[in-house]
Amino acid sequence: MELRTADIPTALEPAAELDRLGHEIAELSAHLDAATAHLLDLIREFDARGGWNTGFRSCAAWLTWRVGLSPGPAREHVRVARALGTLPLLRQALARGELSYSKVRELTRVATPETEERLLAVGRAGTAEHVERIVRGWRRVDAKAEARESARRHACRGLHVYRGEDGMVTLRGRLEPEVGAVLVQALAAAREALYQRRRATGGADGTEGVPAGTPRADISAEPPSLAQQQADALALLAETVLHHGIDPGAPGERYQVVVHVDAPVLADPDAPGQSVLEDGTHVSAETSRRLACDASRVVMRHAPDGQLLEVGARTRTIPPALRRALHHRDQGCRFPGCGLPSGQGHHIRHWAQGGPTTLSNLLSLCRAHHRAVHEEGYQVDRRSDGVLQFRRPTGQLLPEVPPPAAIPADPVQALRAQHEAQGLHIHARTAMPGWLGEPLDVGYAIDVLHPLALQTHPTS
Ligand SMILES: [Zn+2]
Ligand SMILES: [Zn+2]
Repeated sequence: MELRTADIPTALEPAAELDRLGHEIAELSAHLDAATAHLLDLIREFDARGGWNTGFRSCAAWLTWRVGLSPGPAREHVRVARALGTLPLLRQALARGELSYSKVRELTRVATPETEERLLAVGRAGTAEHVERIVRGWRRVDAKAEARESARRHACRGLHVYRGEDGMVTLRGRLEPEVGAVLVQALAAAREALYQRRRATGGADGTEGVPAGTPRADISAEPPSLAQQQADALALLAETVLHHGIDPGAPGERYQVVVHVDAPVLADPDAPGQSVLEDGTHVSAETSRRLACDASRVVMRHAPDGQLLEVGARTRTIPPALRRALHHRDQGCRFPGCGLPSGQGHHIRHWAQGGPTTLSNLLSLCRAHHRAVHEEGYQVDRRSDGVLQFRRPTGQLLPEVPPPAAIPADPVQALRAQHEAQGLHIHARTAMPGWLGEPLDVGYAIDVLHPLALQTHPTS
């Protein structure tokens, strides 16, 4: 028993010694926060300049791969870095080690250039827990304001159809953003279909690229203006609906992709021929190869005269048992640093070129990375020992795990020295909150801080 007393620090440890330890923790934490501000500056610049756009889906995905951050914290770093770009006061407070990263992370969820100063005061005065509770209350007020705004937009949707004296019909309307997006997309698809139709019948667009001054085959056929094309597209949409009936279909069917492809194109992307989506949109040969790669799509092959040769891809579908084995083996996208759980099967050697549909010739890739290897020049091979090798379009190897960064022998001392050299004098009380221990009334705090708070409960 006497032996164990040495393990129990309590009264035996001089209080001054523990104070010193606490000071050291506080001081180093403030140094780390100051260094984090610099790190976020670098991330913001890297993100803005697209430095991550070398096969990665996002700056966060790159951070996960290169720095080893978990996906959640990586996304938070990028979010906070972007937010601080417009919040100079919060950025400076972090850079001076006066406000912890945790507080800044919370405050940037709600801060705008207009509210930044008030929220900085909250950050300085309160503990991290206070800040979190105030931000939560703040977001509730924001959410209510947003819900009001969305209800307002929904209420003022409308479409007015007038018939003028000359018989022309005039449209005027306001659509909610997501409905507008569907309309814009539908109009674009209809315009594209009309363009294809005109090209197929040798219309005015056939003269594209003819040198100026060359007489057109049909002088009266001026290309229609964009407004005229939109009108034609809307008419086509209306005809299509009346012809096929109004049925938006199940989500799976709505987005099904059907590719019409000239037979030689699949085997060799450089072969002449065309690939056309069901809606008439032209896609590149590589795109049609990607869509056919995981052939849960229907590929219709056409003879040179346009006649349907075969509906062939169903026979190439990766069988369910093989797909399960593939998912089990790959556990999501295999592109370095990705790991998204849902994957498409990619044939390393395309089946149209004789590649077998076997585990060793298949790997899982997410949609974005499947696109990267087909359309963006990324390459993937499986070495004879089974290891996958990804290469950038330049041929440079893209390693699964990047080499670690070189760091000085005593990184803490280096950080201190660097901050001293910047004129930054960080000590144990740099990040101390001004809170004196009184209880926090979040409701009151929000009422006096949030610019919209009073609109939310006007009577109270
Ligand atoms: Zn593929
Ligand atoms: Zn991926």
